[in-house]
Amino acid sequence: MEVLRLENVSFDYRQIEGEPLHAVKEVSLSVRKGEFLVLAGANGSGKSTLAKMMNGLILPTRGKVYVYGTDTADKTKTFDIRRRVGMVFQNPDNQMIATIVEDDIAFGPENLGVPREEIIRRVDWALKAVGMEARRKDTPFKMSGGQKQRIAIAGILAIRPDILILDEATSMLDPKGRREVTEVITRLNKEEGITVIHITHHMDEAVGADRIAVMHEGRIVMQGTPAEVFASPLLTTEYRLALPVASEIAAGLKKEGFDMPEVLTPAQLTEAICRLL
Ligand code: ADP
Ligand code: MG
Repeated sequence: MEVLRLENVSFDYRQIEGEPLHAVKEVSLSVRKGEFLVLAGANGSGKSTLAKMMNGLILPTRGKVYVYGTDTADKTKTFDIRRRVGMVFQNPDNQMIATIVEDDIAFGPENLGVPREEIIRRVDWALKAVGMEARRKDTPFKMSGGQKQRIAIAGILAIRPDILILDEATSMLDPKGRREVTEVITRLNKEEGITVIHITHHMDEAVGADRIAVMHEGRIVMQGTPAEVFASPLLTTEYRLALPVASEIAAGLKKEGFDMPEVLTPAQLTEAICRLL
């Protein structure tokens, strides 16, 4: 089932001087229910602009965006669309509202007028989903970046979105924080069936995706499984992305004349090296 559809979508930013800036150019994309899609691309390639069109924060200059079949340009449906498509942003500090974790998570459903009993259930569920049950009475401000970002995700989950978009939500985190967040969103996708669109330029976070779409200068220039996308030489040259660390090491060994298969994960790399030895 298709949950998100972009039809020939373009977005221009008006500028004070000169021509409009063409940030997104004629992008068509279909996302199916339960998919884990990674959207990758260098800085300025148009990822955030595209993401904001996916939940109606901005409307396309040309083309159409449909969320569960509803046109995002239909102003009477804006509220429904925002509720169905939850967004997590880069800086967790800008997404914290309350000084106590459980209040912070309850804020979204409270605003929607969800009954008290149901809010309690949702807060419990969301805390568990991000592995932060033990911290419900703590203050988020002193936590690590990874923990704060998990609280931010829980806050969005409490609104019960069908689609979760993370716009570089891991880019300010250290490797441990990135791993924590990646594990959480992978589990939400696999166990809760939430459709995930993860925007990142860390390809280590993309190895488990169902599909990777690569943006370059406002266009989606390549799409495929991680193995397909990582096999393209254009990825590192033209599109300025790095391979996953394990793939990079394997490629290096191959260049030195060792017989190496294509690998994506540290486990596959270890296995390949062991076989060589
Ligand atoms: P990404 O998220 O991939 O880094 P963006 O969607 O943020 O890319 O930006 C795409 C292009 O649009 C860039 O050239 C950027 O400078 C420009 N841009 C982004 N936001 C604005 C804005 N509010 N006003 C004008 N230009 C913008
Ligand atoms: Mg961005």
